[in-house]
Amino acid sequence: MPSNMRFDGQTVVITGAGGGLGKAYALFFGFRGANVVVNDLGSSSKGEGYSSKAADVVVDEIKKAGGNAVANYDSVEFGERIIETAVKAFGSVHVLINNAGILRDISFKNMKDPDWDLIQLVHLKGAFTTTKAAWPVFRKQKFGRIINTASAAGLYGSFGQANYSAAKLGLVGFTETLAKEGAKYGIVANVIAPIAASRMTQTVMPEDLLSMLQPEWIVPLVAHLAHKDNEETGGIYEAGAGFVSKLRWERSEGALFKTDDSFTPAAILARWTEIMDFESKTPQYPSGPNDFMSLLESARELPSN
Ligand code: NAD
Repeated sequence: MPSNMRFDGQTVVITGAGGGLGKAYALFFGFRGANVVVNDLGSSSKGEGYSSKAADVVVDEIKKAGGNAVANYDSVEFGERIIETAVKAFGSVHVLINNAGILRDISFKNMKDPDWDLIQLVHLKGAFTTTKAAWPVFRKQKFGRIINTASAAGLYGSFGQANYSAAKLGLVGFTETLAKEGAKYGIVANVIAPIAASRMTQTVMPEDLLSMLQPEWIVPLVAHLAHKDNEETGGIYEAGAGFVSKLRWERSEGALFKTDDSFTPAAILARWTEIMDFESKTPQYPSGPNDFMSLLESARELPSN
């Protein structure tokens, strides 16, 4: 990142910015000239309790360094209050980083409704309410940068995290749609799957690995995506320990069947290797729900299966 990349005049809202990744983002933007809204409920990593201290400490650090920051202690369930804090303090919002998160890890067999519901509430509903409140501001000013936070658990699945995986992949779909709907209003939306040492990971990863995973190593990617010069939208990025990469969907070339009485389970089985083939045929990289529709015309001409 250029050492002069600055965010003067930009208001950056970061949820869950009292610790971990959110704190690293808040300090960066605060030191680079942005007006920062440091939101944090101050709960435990399981979503229990409340404290204003987490957000206050980060705000104090930014202010001591000569930056501009205000605290907000609302749960992300009430995202409109967080955006209201930004607009009242700084007149607008330009960047929204949906980062707040909790875990309720438990095997699927033992997962109870509250384990499921609270995870969806904080991750999905939280991102929805903040974005919903920021959206009209973004549209009006024809500018907005949204960074949502997914997880490798959502992209690939992870033992004991069915609730969290579902929410995190939900945020990928959410982001992809925001990118499409926001395009003509200058609203850019991307989603990251970070890996970093924080209280979330400190109990599940060995010490030597954690030492390589500083939250600060996620900051350069987030800063780039948040910057006004970045127009790349709808991207899914994995980042951690200095590694940054982009993900996309890959679809096998597949098989196209005549849709008549010959389209049977046996017909599928006969061409199963083609359906599964990512090697010898040309893979496709779809980016929209209708990407395969052009095939349908050629399907009319096919002989029976
Ligand atoms: P963290 O626990 O250090 O930080 C999360 C912050 O969110 C905490 O300060 C917490 O108080 C706050 N928070 C929790 N519920 C809230 C609510 N309802 N409203 C407002 N604030 C709330 O964890 P972290 O590792 O920094 O995680 C940040 C984000 O990154 C999360 O969304 C997490 O799921 C995601 N993530 C982290 C990793 C990782 O390796 N650390 C991996 C994948 C995804």
